[in-house]
Amino acid sequence: MSQYIKGLSTEEVIKNKERYGTNELFKKTKSTFVSKIIDVFKEPMLLLLLCATVIYFIIGQFREGIVMLVFVSFVSAISFIQQWKTDKTMNELKNLVCAKVYVFRDGKKILINSSDLVPKDVVYISPGERIPADCEIIEVSNFQVDESALTGESEPVYKLCKQDITEDKDHWKRYMLYAGTLAVSGTCLALVKTIGLNTEYGKIGKSIYEIKDEPTPLEKKVGSLVKNLAKVGALLCFIVISLSYITSGNILKSIMAGITLAMAIIPEEFPVVLTVFLSMGAYRLAKKNVIMRKISAVETLGATTVLCVDKTGTITENKMKVKEVFSKDLGSIGLEKTDKKLALLSILSSETDSSDSLEKAILEQYSNKFSLAQLNALELYKKFDFDSKTKTMANIYIMDSEYYVAAKGSPEAILELTNLTDEEKLSIKLEFDKMASKGLRVLAFAEGNDSRILDSLNQYKLDFRGLIGFQDSPKAGVIDAVKGCNAAGIRVVMITGDYYKTAMAIGQEIGLRFSKRTITGDEIEKMDAYELREAVKECDVFSRVIPAHKMRIVKALKENGEIVAMTGDGVNDAPALKDSNIGIAMGKRGTEVAKEASDMIILDDSFTTIVDTVRDGRRIFTNIRKAMIYILIIHIPIVALALFSPMFNLPQILLPMHIMLLELIIDPTCSIIFELEPEEPNIMKQPPRSPKESLITQQMVKMTLLLGTTMFLSAFLPFHYLVDKGFSIEYARSFSLVVLLIGNMILVLVSSSGSKLLITQLLQSKNRIRTIVNIISVVTLLLIVYNPFLQVLFQTSSLELQTFTMAFILGLISTGWWEVVKCLRK
Ligand code: ADP
Ligand code: MG
Repeated sequence: MSQYIKGLSTEEVIKNKERYGTNELFKKTKSTFVSKIIDVFKEPMLLLLLCATVIYFIIGQFREGIVMLVFVSFVSAISFIQQWKTDKTMNELKNLVCAKVYVFRDGKKILINSSDLVPKDVVYISPGERIPADCEIIEVSNFQVDESALTGESEPVYKLCKQDITEDKDHWKRYMLYAGTLAVSGTCLALVKTIGLNTEYGKIGKSIYEIKDEPTPLEKKVGSLVKNLAKVGALLCFIVISLSYITSGNILKSIMAGITLAMAIIPEEFPVVLTVFLSMGAYRLAKKNVIMRKISAVETLGATTVLCVDKTGTITENKMKVKEVFSKDLGSIGLEKTDKKLALLSILSSETDSSDSLEKAILEQYSNKFSLAQLNALELYKKFDFDSKTKTMANIYIMDSEYYVAAKGSPEAILELTNLTDEEKLSIKLEFDKMASKGLRVLAFAEGNDSRILDSLNQYKLDFRGLIGFQDSPKAGVIDAVKGCNAAGIRVVMITGDYYKTAMAIGQEIGLRFSKRTITGDEIEKMDAYELREAVKECDVFSRVIPAHKMRIVKALKENGEIVAMTGDGVNDAPALKDSNIGIAMGKRGTEVAKEASDMIILDDSFTTIVDTVRDGRRIFTNIRKAMIYILIIHIPIVALALFSPMFNLPQILLPMHIMLLELIIDPTCSIIFELEPEEPNIMKQPPRSPKESLITQQMVKMTLLLGTTMFLSAFLPFHYLVDKGFSIEYARSFSLVVLLIGNMILVLVSSSGSKLLITQLLQSKNRIRTIVNIISVVTLLLIVYNPFLQVLFQTSSLELQTFTMAFILGLISTGWWEVVKCLRK
């Protein structure tokens, strides 16, 4: 219907865009440069630094004050860059998920982002799409819209052209399409009237397309952890300030001790690690054809225990090929002979210009056997569209004074329409089962002549003509991917509308675990919730299932404690996608509605990509965990040192600038080095992590406390030993700093891999950033200990080579001992 439409020209589009703006249903709150800077200065760490600076200036230590100022600028620059990068990543992700729409421009039908739509554009809408703007209809065919999002009316509305409507007093016009509503069936050509906030939907101001950046379960957990730590920290600071004041009587010194402790204790790295890891994770996935609509899904992914996937198109190629033919007249004829009657019927029962892969296969096989004149001899009068519930479709043609019905569909359904005897049906069923057991998808064909036009196909009596078996092979890599899932303790469940024998044959071919059993849609209908829950425990093949059953399957699996990822593409899949823990929409085949309901979109519609994504989810989660544990461990000595010295009125080992220096090394370490850490080699050989398992298990807490304590003691005891022996505080401090920094370097290596040994980590790993950070920390360490200018600033003094070596070795041991434990465990 649409060849003659020109649509707007490029110049007109530009003009209209200038005049009306972009088609966005809600205003984006754009964060400005200034607001970002203000955000950075809201960080408590920065405020503490500023306080310390002010105190230095008050007590006249200008040099220290200036150094702190330098630190302040450094720290704020780093947080600023980090925030800017995260924002950029998020915006790029948001651009990827925006809805698309077909428009006519410069005489061509092109696909554009809905946000680029302008008034006077001509759009082409098909089922499953959200209406992108308020439009007036130009042409419709059987077009129905679900307007419940806007009007609350749950029945779909038939849309018509303006000239076909006699009376329409309602506010919602039958000839208009409204932004935000949903095309359910048919197709439509429409002229855009208003866009963005001026549409009826925009006026309500609800947003549909949006990456939801609500806090993830992990973020919530960590958030409360941070709050609790902050409370404890505040209490400790108060105690330290009062104790220090009582013992020393110097208020400014006491406050400084409090600030030092606060700086050590603030867990500002935790939230940073989470946002950086999750958004970078999503960003990396986007490069691999996976778009996360919900960032939190990255986290859930790694815990997936069941993957429910559609068969056709996800597991198989969805490229059908006619493989076997059974003709009523000629019997099993294979492809050598052709039953002309059956061949013609198969073509007549299909759409003329079909995108359906079964019908494409029919046309490919048989259209060259007939002349165009033969094919166009009959005039199409009526269609019964394919319906996944009845699993049949038919075309009705005008033939002389009668009508000719050409029908095809699932054999069970088609045989019901014929007047064959039970015996005949049984023998045909045997033929059909034979084909299905080979994994073929079987269609039955029937035809009939009738003088009446009836409401539904099942009111006709038809003559059976034959069966055609189509082959649709599993995609390359699927078998290996299923193997991978089995090893990783992830069940793969196949869901299909196909016949059970076909489904089981394919299930066995790709190696599903429970593929000797199947549950059909009819059986699901008859089961109650309890029975279904029991049944889904040991069945990986679901056949003759309609989308409504998918939701029940998801529910039953979830009630069994599984974490369910579910794929879907059609309008009817949306509820199941929403209900599953991770809804996966197909990027190519998927309708807009399915995408909207999903948590992530797989752009290449491929099963192997889904499995890869699970692997990434696991890697990201383990890296978050490693980073968190590292942060906890490294803070134990710092906090303990900042706490004990003032409490017992001992000389301060760590001054604010030392803590700053340590933080400057720790921050990039945890947010960059650990983010880059590759997956553990055995990551897909372990069962999924239990969703109930806490981020840091008890065993990890023990390890954290032990490692933290040894680090603390290695820095604390020698310091006081040296001071008691009569060495200067500066000298002893140099010693402790060497221990801490070297200990930290080893700690990063030790905690970045649970299975690999330190040596392999050092030699094989390609984590270049880690090498850079290591080199920087060693150079910094040498400068602080030996550079006269920095010695004054950091209140250190030179160590003899022998002492330095001792400190170095002590640092190695302080965290390296964990390596021995690892070896022994192996
Ligand atoms: P799937 O989950 O595999 O996509 P469908 O709902 O597409 O399942 O198909 C279910 C059944 O409906 C098929 O096994 C087949 O018997 C029948 N069927 C599918 N497509 C057509 C079609 N274009 N014409 C007639 N029957 C069809
Ligand atoms: Mg299908």
